[in-house]
Amino acid sequence: TVLSAAASQVPRYVRVNTLKTCVDDVIDFFKRQGYAYLGKAASVEELKALSGKKFMLDLHLPELLVFPSQTDLHDNVLYTSGHIILQDKASCLPAFLLGPVASSHIIDACAAPGNKTSHLAAILKNKGQIFAFDVDPKRMATMNTLLTRAGVTGCQLAQQDFLTVDPRDPKYSRVTHILLDPSCSGSGMVTRGPGQEVAPSAERMQALAGFQRRVLSHALSFPALRRLVYSTCSLHQEENEDVVQAVLQEWGSAFRLVTAFPSWPCRGLAVFPGAESCLRASPAETLTHGFFVAVLERCKEGAATPS
Ligand code: SAM
Repeated sequence: TVLSAAASQVPRYVRVNTLKTCVDDVIDFFKRQGYAYLGKAASVEELKALSGKKFMLDLHLPELLVFPSQTDLHDNVLYTSGHIILQDKASCLPAFLLGPVASSHIIDACAAPGNKTSHLAAILKNKGQIFAFDVDPKRMATMNTLLTRAGVTGCQLAQQDFLTVDPRDPKYSRVTHILLDPSCSGSGMVTRGPGQEVAPSAERMQALAGFQRRVLSHALSFPALRRLVYSTCSLHQEENEDVVQAVLQEWGSAFRLVTAFPSWPCRGLAVFPGAESCLRASPAETLTHGFFVAVLERCKEGAATPS
């Protein structure tokens, strides 16, 4: 199928966990294991051409190594010891684009299994404070294991519906950054087996989009919030541009879109003025899973509540 052909082209991305190691040490490790290091890629085409025991540094993200798609590193000691995280390139964009400074207080609203949380902790160098929420106990348990293995500290996990988290709780009075990666149709995930690629029903799509709008609007109600990243692994406009447009409209002039990763080639669908500030990712264009990211910032003099 077209989808699995595209999937087989997506390389194996390896995020270096800077809480435990550094890019140079990981490169040396793989060289000692017989891999040839070809330096930093200059184009997506170079990544596409990778084969055999070769690897490169990604052209967009500083702590990301790229291996041929067949490379299986799940048994590699660097993975089992939490020195590297096996995470698709597109899913590394949200934490990178949130870009908090090390002392920040952050909410990861829909956090499990915690790949983006561990990325945030690495960006914060385990300083500052992360409040991470998820409703699913099984996924929370996985997240606990993942964060422990990755050496993450300074992260408070709570099994709680983020919609019930009180923005006025003094605990969150210093939360300036929120990463919001809510449940979605997953239509951008390309490596799943055949049979799972059925389009979601209209009812499911409506339910997902309704939840995504509510949870985005709730996130914007945290009083000290300055910057938020909204992301999905969905290809559907209803879960992406439409959600962002509806919630921005609801909040009047309080928040605005900022251009996410200006040099990224693949942009949001031009369905409202400014939608190209959002970014999209896909196997064909960016050699990643299908993905959507919007970066919102509070306008200096904005309304405190939705209109
Ligand atoms: N950010 C995660 C990562 O990078 O590893 C992936 C998050 S996944 C796309 C969405 C998560 O949202 C699921 O784990 C789901 O259990 C959780 N979720 C769904 N509804 C929620 C809610 N109301 N409050 C908090 N979490 C919720």
